[in-house]
Amino acid sequence: MKTDFLIIGCGLAGVTFANLAAEHGYTVRLTDRRAHIGGNCYSYKDEESQVEVHKYGPHIFHTNSTKIWEYVNRFTAFNNYVNRVKARTGNRVYGMPINLHTLNQFFGKDFTPAEAEKHIDSIRDKELKPTNFEEYVLHNLGRELYEAFYKYYTTKHWGVDPTEIPISTAKRLPIRFNYNDNYFNDQFQGIPVNGYTEMIQRMLDHKNIHVSLGEDFELYRAGWRQNFKHLVFTGSIDNYFNYNNGYLPYRTLRFEAVRGKEIIGNAVMNYTDMSESFTRMHEHKWFTPERKFDKSIAFKEYPGNTDSRKNPIYPIRNPDSTAMFQAYNDQAKAEENVTFVGRLAEFRYYDMHQVIAASMTKFEKLMETYGK
Ligand SMILES: Cc1cc2nc3c(=O)[nH]c(=O)nc-3n(C[C@H](O)[C@H](O)[C@H](O)COP(=O)(O)OP(=O)(O)OC[C@H]3O[C@@H](n4cnc5c(N)ncnc54)[C@H](O)[C@@H]3O)c2cc1C
Repeated sequence: MKTDFLIIGCGLAGVTFANLAAEHGYTVRLTDRRAHIGGNCYSYKDEESQVEVHKYGPHIFHTNSTKIWEYVNRFTAFNNYVNRVKARTGNRVYGMPINLHTLNQFFGKDFTPAEAEKHIDSIRDKELKPTNFEEYVLHNLGRELYEAFYKYYTTKHWGVDPTEIPISTAKRLPIRFNYNDNYFNDQFQGIPVNGYTEMIQRMLDHKNIHVSLGEDFELYRAGWRQNFKHLVFTGSIDNYFNYNNGYLPYRTLRFEAVRGKEIIGNAVMNYTDMSESFTRMHEHKWFTPERKFDKSIAFKEYPGNTDSRKNPIYPIRNPDSTAMFQAYNDQAKAEENVTFVGRLAEFRYYDMHQVIAASMTKFEKLMETYGK
């Protein structure tokens, strides 16, 4: 008898789909080429410090959706962590995102909200009609703040001049004329109290789900239709089509570990000028401030270019890559009994709550045709 679903990829896209399918009575085989579950959300306890480390970079769960928040809370409790990022520029440290405290520190003032807004209005480039990242920030904040906090950080992060980056990327960054330094605007936020891996393990804890790790899609490519009714592919879409339109471009990240007792004194510190080539440091013990540690571990984060074959992290969206993805997406539409979901299959940046929502939507849509 055929298994209902073969799911490639044990990240949140594949795991959410597997969990929903199993709870609806379907049988699932879930596989990943990596030796662990969780995809890029994977976390583990560092032996030396006992700190829960987010292996692929710091992950803070946040959402405005009650549905998603209630769903993840079925599998873990969350602590009260609130992301308050610091930024180091010109040998001084400020709060991020830019808020009233940042502005008062930066300009050496004690502005009220209205005075700060008036000051920014006097220094921003009002005449400019923004068409890219740089122009958007110059138009909203002026050159001094742009160069201190955005220009070099963005150049390091994306590896291109900010004039080549779309406005949509800049619009994601909040600018506040009050003392709220919470990085996110969402209603719900936190870190799973026992780590992401335990949360994901509990999502997979169902008799209908069989997990096999260290297996690449290549193992199933030729013959999966003989043993499975439907394929859910969460790997890179160009990989599925054997790169027949080329390799999709990505930014990647490399992490360098630093050990000590106290390292940066905060979960995340951005380095927004060019004196360091890394973009930020993260000290993971601060993600669980409710716990005490004698030792600590932090990571320096170095970006670089890659393609979908080697540690793809942030999709590089430009006219060429968008056209290439579109060609793959057109091919995908013609595939029978295959669902493509997740950051790699959809060539887009997804936060965790968004990828869970995307998987839920794809599952619900499929149920309209399959029923059960
Ligand atoms: C540095 C960093 C920081 C982040 N911070 C946050 C944050 O603070 N908050 C937030 O909400 N989100 C954050 N995210 C985003 C979050 O990681 C993603 O939303 C989530 O991981 C996407 O899940 P996914 O299943 O689509 O992809 P992935 O987690 O990448 O899972 C895909 C899986 O498929 C497997 N796979 C791929 N191809 C194959 C193949 N051919 N055969 C077998 N297996 C295959 C991969 O090994 C991988 O395990 C961050 C991401 C990064 C990189």
